[in-house]
Amino acid sequence: MDSIYLQSVLSDMYMKLITHYIFTAGLLVWMLPGYLGFLLSVWLAFSVNRLIDFGHTHKHGFSSRSWVTHDLFTAPLWGLAVGFLTYYALQYANVEISLVILAGLVSALSHLFLDSVTESGIFVSGKRKALAHFSYNNPFINAVFIVAGLLFILIAFTYPVQTLFLV
Ligand SMILES: [Zn+2]
Repeated sequence: MDSIYLQSVLSDMYMKLITHYIFTAGLLVWMLPGYLGFLLSVWLAFSVNRLIDFGHTHKHGFSSRSWVTHDLFTAPLWGLAVGFLTYYALQYANVEISLVILAGLVSALSHLFLDSVTESGIFVSGKRKALAHFSYNNPFINAVFIVAGLLFILIAFTYPVQTLFLV
């Protein structure tokens, strides 16, 4: 896939939303075992990233991030809330509450991590911070995280996380 094609696909997307989806979903597929885990991963990656990016406010045609969803202290609350509601909706499906809550938290933190390498950065206690200053639609950095997300899915099949850390 050449970078011009990749850029045209990504430039229409809101702050690499597609990149957010793939990276978070990959990470969660690695964390959550089984078929239900896969469905949960797709759901949480979609809902948490989408919810957090509702926090982008538009001023004079530019999108910027709001501390309401993009602060290191507020974002995890949104992730935890979605995780808890998801558990509540699935409480008869025999899912482990701690794993679903943790997955919600990881979704929110993975969102912040990706945003923290872009120009607008994220908030830490209301102050803007950035680890790097790539533009949100920089094709290189988007490609890196998309590939990383796909690698997590690949690793999930060979070395599922539960064989590393859990029972
Ligand atoms: Zn964002």
